[in-house]
Amino acid sequence: MIVAIDGPSGAGKSTLAKRVAKELRFTYLDTGAIYRALALKILRRRVDLNDTAALSAIVQDSDIDLRGRDGQLQVILDGQDVSALIRTPEVSQMASKASAIPMVRHRLLHLQRELGRRGNVVAEGRDIGTVVFPDAQVKIYLDASIEERARRRCHELRAAGREVSLAETISEMKERDKRDSERDIAPLRKADDALAVDSSGLTADAVAEKVLQLIKSESSKLTNDRSLGI
Ligand code: C5P
Repeated sequence: MIVAIDGPSGAGKSTLAKRVAKELRFTYLDTGAIYRALALKILRRRVDLNDTAALSAIVQDSDIDLRGRDGQLQVILDGQDVSALIRTPEVSQMASKASAIPMVRHRLLHLQRELGRRGNVVAEGRDIGTVVFPDAQVKIYLDASIEERARRRCHELRAAGREVSLAETISEMKERDKRDSERDIAPLRKADDALAVDSSGLTADAVAEKVLQLIKSESSKLTNDRSLGI
C-alpha cells in the first residue's frame, strides 16, 4: 500500500508521515530530503543551475539513499550522513530552485519509485499523488495557514540553533511555495482524488488520527475487493 502526503512547506507533512509510518510499520519516504541532498551537493560544488553540463554531471553522479535507523530517517549522500546538513534555509531554497529543472526531476523520479518498491510506504512531497505514485491507495493534501506554517518552521529552525525571524521565514516560505506551485513540471497541487486536510489549529495527534482512520477504511476496502476477486 502507498500513502501519499502532499502539501506546501510547514503544513506538517513530515510529522504526519512519520507518525503514520510508525503506527503502521510502513517505510517513511521523505522525498523532499532527496531534493535537499542534491541541493546540498550543488551548493558545495558551487554549480550554476544554468550550467547544464555541470548540473547533469552532478545529477548522474550522485548516490542518494534514505535509511531508517532507530526510528530516525538518515539521508545518505555519496556515503555521508547529511541528515542534519540539509535542513537549512539555504538548502531549502536551492532544493526548490533545482527541483524546477526537468532533468533533475526526471532522475529523482526514478529514484523515488525505486525506493517506493521497498514495500508499504508513506511518501511525502509535492507531487506524490499526482506524479510519483498516481495510483496510491490513500492521498492526502495537507495544508495550513501561512502564519501557522511559518511559526512551526521557525520553531524547528530555532530548536536546531538557527536565529531566524518570523517575518523572514514567512517571506522565504511564500517565495518557495510560489516557485513550487508555478513551475511547469510537476507543480505542487492537490490530486483530484486526494483528501484535503487543513491542519491549522489541529494538533498533530488529531491530524494523524484522521488520516489513520482513512487508511483503515481504504485497506478494508482493498481486502474486501480482493476477497471478491476484483
Ligand atoms: O518538503 P521539503 O521542504 O523538504 O522539500 C524541499 C523542496 O524540494 C521543496 O520546496 C520542493 O521544491 C522540492 N520538492 C519537490 N517535489 C517533492 C518534494 C520536494 O519538488 N516531491
